Amino acid sequence: MTALVMKFGGTSVGNAERIREVARIVQSRQGRKRIVVVSAMAGITNLLFEMAEAARQHDLDRAVQILSKIEQMHLEASRSLDLATPDIIGRIKEIVENLQRRIHGIDLLGELSPRTMDEVASSGERLSSILVAGYLGCPLLDARKVIRTDSHFGTARPKLAAIKKLAALHIVPLLESYDIIVTQGYIGSEDAGDTTTLGRGGSDYSAGLIGAALQADEIEIWTDVEGILTADPRLVPSARTVEVLSYQEAAELASYGAKVLHPATVRPALDAGIPVTIRSTFKPDGMYSTISPGESSGRPCVAIAMRRNVVIISVTQESMTDQAGFLAKLFDVFGRRGVSVDLVSTSEICVSVSLDKSAPLEALTQDLEKLGQVSIARERAVIAVVGDLLRKTPEVLRKTFIAIDGIPVDLISMGANAINLSLIVQEAQADRAVQNLHAAFFEEGER
Ligand code: ADP
Ligand code: ASP
Ligand code: MG
Repeated sequence: MTALVMKFGGTSVGNAERIREVARIVQSRQGRKRIVVVSAMAGITNLLFEMAEAARQHDLDRAVQILSKIEQMHLEASRSLDLATPDIIGRIKEIVENLQRRIHGIDLLGELSPRTMDEVASSGERLSSILVAGYLGCPLLDARKVIRTDSHFGTARPKLAAIKKLAALHIVPLLESYDIIVTQGYIGSEDAGDTTTLGRGGSDYSAGLIGAALQADEIEIWTDVEGILTADPRLVPSARTVEVLSYQEAAELASYGAKVLHPATVRPALDAGIPVTIRSTFKPDGMYSTISPGESSGRPCVAIAMRRNVVIISVTQESMTDQAGFLAKLFDVFGRRGVSVDLVSTSEICVSVSLDKSAPLEALTQDLEKLGQVSIARERAVIAVVGDLLRKTPEVLRKTFIAIDGIPVDLISMGANAINLSLIVQEAQADRAVQNLHAAFFEEGER
């Protein structure tokens, strides 16, 4: 059986018109069994988080107002799609009523656990998938039956062996009777049956997991841009599609902020040797990117990525005695707090590490003060220049330094994997740095 996994992101299912386009694209892929993985309608997951937070702060009016907005958006789309049948309306209302009860529960307790948040957040994909399956007239499979995860609510880790078994049990028989099935991205369930999520942007990851479990022949990620571009087009309008890139390049770009792909997506596809393409629902016949086993961009710089919300913590060692165990003690502090460290730079007396600003900075500072003098630089962004031939091309360094001339750089790291050069700059300078780097690598003749 040749199977194709097609994942559609939030903007691709953002309203009735977009859902019609999704159906056209899915139907155009004749001759293959298609598993359609959908995100929540654009903006809905954010609204669900806001709604839950309002309830936690006992602002019931606001929570109810947000819920009613969510309900209206789905009811309106169902009407425009001629789907306002008692069955579909009933299924939408059931999810909305469940959310209503959740809001009151959160308000009563004044507490919002990650477990409850996942249950709430899963509603977005559960709602959008009702519309997409309804419009396509095909079965809707609850992803929670297949995507088994651990209990790390909010960013649950999938259990691939279990997912393979569950896919064989629930997806394969459905595909024997139907050419197309729809399921939700982002959501799963843990052993006890509670709903989990794979982290924000996790629908891409769902597509990778389902593709790997079914040994699909391709995973298509449909979004609002024509593939992975040489930079975020919101920042660099002249950015252009990268037609072919390696798994490593894609993974690196994703983890350094290229939101177009969830960082974990390519791993299961890579292990299963499945190509991933990234395409635009706005231009289905336009350019697209292919990430394929054994392929490489063959370039020193394939794209530039940028991630905001970074802080740098520096620890200056006051005395030079006890030098030997210093780094071990330092990393132990981060390890015990469950904080993952990004870039590291060391000098004789000072160690700087970069972290996401959501890390427990106060607690870390208290622990680190036992080791030395601590200082924190906030409002930073990390920029990554990524390319398979980066390390083999000394020219990259020269171009990078010329491009960022005049922009203060806090930290530089040439990734140990040799395909990434990362820089940390002030957030306020980050856009300009990306634009200058893009001009240097992509707009001045050479690539
Ligand atoms: P979806 O809802 O389809 O998952 P996302 O919003 O998560 O879409 O990702 C698509 C967005 O990623 C694009 O609209 C673009 O602004 C952003 N983006 C950031 N970096 C890049 C890049 N290098 N190439 C393409 N898009 C990028
Ligand atoms: N709806 C989820 C989010 O907004 C997952 C996704 O769209 O990939 O994060
Ligand atoms: Mg996304």
